[in-house]
Amino acid sequence: MSQTNPPLQIAIIGAGFSGMMTGVQLMRQTTMPLTLHLINDKYEFGKGPAYSTTHPKHILNVPAAKMTAFPDRPEHFLDWAHRQEAYQDMDKEVLGKVFLPRRDFGRYLSEVWTEAVAGKRPDTTVNIIHDKAVDITAADGSNTIVLASGQTIAADYVVLATGNEPPRNLPVSDPALYDDPNYIGDPWNNKAVDNLDPDRDILIIGNGLTMVDIVIGIMDTGFNGVIHTLSPDGLAILPHRYGYIAYSKLAEELKAPYKLNELYKLINKHIKVFKKSELSPEPVIDSLRPLTQKIWQGLSLEDKQRFLKYLMPHWNKIRHRMPGHMYDYLMQRQIAGGMVIHRGRLLNMTQTSNGLSAEILETNTDTPIRLDVSRIINCIGPNTYVSQSLNPLLQQLVSKDMLQADPLRIGMQVTDHWTLVGADGREIPSLYTIGGNLRGLLWETTAVPELRAQAATLAGEILSKAANV
Ligand SMILES: Cc1cc2nc3c(=O)[nH]c(=O)nc-3n(C[C@H](O)[C@H](O)[C@H](O)COP(=O)(O)OP(=O)(O)OC[C@H]3O[C@@H](n4cnc5c(N)ncnc54)[C@H](O)[C@@H]3O)c2cc1C
Repeated sequence: MSQTNPPLQIAIIGAGFSGMMTGVQLMRQTTMPLTLHLINDKYEFGKGPAYSTTHPKHILNVPAAKMTAFPDRPEHFLDWAHRQEAYQDMDKEVLGKVFLPRRDFGRYLSEVWTEAVAGKRPDTTVNIIHDKAVDITAADGSNTIVLASGQTIAADYVVLATGNEPPRNLPVSDPALYDDPNYIGDPWNNKAVDNLDPDRDILIIGNGLTMVDIVIGIMDTGFNGVIHTLSPDGLAILPHRYGYIAYSKLAEELKAPYKLNELYKLINKHIKVFKKSELSPEPVIDSLRPLTQKIWQGLSLEDKQRFLKYLMPHWNKIRHRMPGHMYDYLMQRQIAGGMVIHRGRLLNMTQTSNGLSAEILETNTDTPIRLDVSRIINCIGPNTYVSQSLNPLLQQLVSKDMLQADPLRIGMQVTDHWTLVGADGREIPSLYTIGGNLRGLLWETTAVPELRAQAATLAGEILSKAANV
């Protein structure tokens, strides 16, 4: 493309970490005139549900040393944190191991964005649009994005950085329940625990990190009711214990081609070594992190299905750990009777004259129990099946056959370079995606260490494609 051509138009839909960092990387990498449109709704620009929290006790689940926004500047976040008044006096090495508040990381991201805009080429224009994208039409090599306001945006390339979806709705006998103000379907809504009756019980469905976040939001508010939680495995996730011990022996023994049975045996062999020394095996699973995407891509579809069916709950409980002090708090609250963790499944939820009621069947029992509560919060994890998405844009793309779920139904069907594949099996070369939408292809694609690399790769991919048109 020569300098006399009109600027390349790139639209990014969704400006959480992935969308914003793709924008930053495009500004850093471009050598041609560029107009960037970043379309974002619901959360503060660049922060998404993860980093728009203002609660000081909502902390990162990755230590500061590993949270840089840039793959080529490994200490960028740590250096930033060390410059902040609150952490200036701390030893930098110690600070690197700390799980800092997520709101601090949100502030860092705002500065990353401001600096990128200040340093952009004069022929790059940035257009931030606070609106919801609801449709895309692709014709004659150009895309038109339709916004909820009715405005349209033309773009040569579009990136779907739509991120984490709220959990799917749980089946109930009367769907009017979903409109009850005390049923919280989106647990990342900052108002999830506002105006709680301090003396009445609540139910949290799910026992993962989102449940922990909700409890953090309640714990210092003088709430005296019982926090009931429900999931098939009860409270299974582990606390952070070993400060990220580096373990290399498993990685040294891993050899392609990968087969789930053999991997399972090999991983178990290493776990047994840890258990023999009375150590918990988290470092074994952590050591797989840099290799996970490669291993996943090497597995057969059947092996991936088997992993999701039988091993995923075990994987999740080790991989997504909670802060040690929160683990202690949950244990103490249970002992004091302020928290009851139910293992089992939800049968129904109904509205009552003074609240909500949940019918649950606990594991190994035949008789359902009923919990009368003032609020129910759905924390079962993000919906990943695009055919059941609540996002109007994704619904529209699915209905137009421009988007389909991957065969595992955990992300979008994409090519190896992250362009969408429509229902007819054909690539849509100007429509890219990033982040959790790539779960079917990459599996491990949710946290900053993967997403920052994806943003850099995707920016390079789009710019080189545009340069060769
Ligand atoms: C509560 C929570 C805590 C987390 N903590 C950590 C952590 O400590 N460390 C870590 O590495 N990872 C953490 N994660 C993982 C997190 O998912 C990633 O770090 C990262 O924030 C994901 O960014 P994203 O841009 O892909 O998605 P999101 O952050 O979900 O952003 C997507 C954005 O797109 C917008 N959007 C969607 N559809 C449209 C549309 N149609 N039109 C306009 N805008 C749209 C959304 O409103 C949102 O603003 C956490 C996740 C959650 C949910």
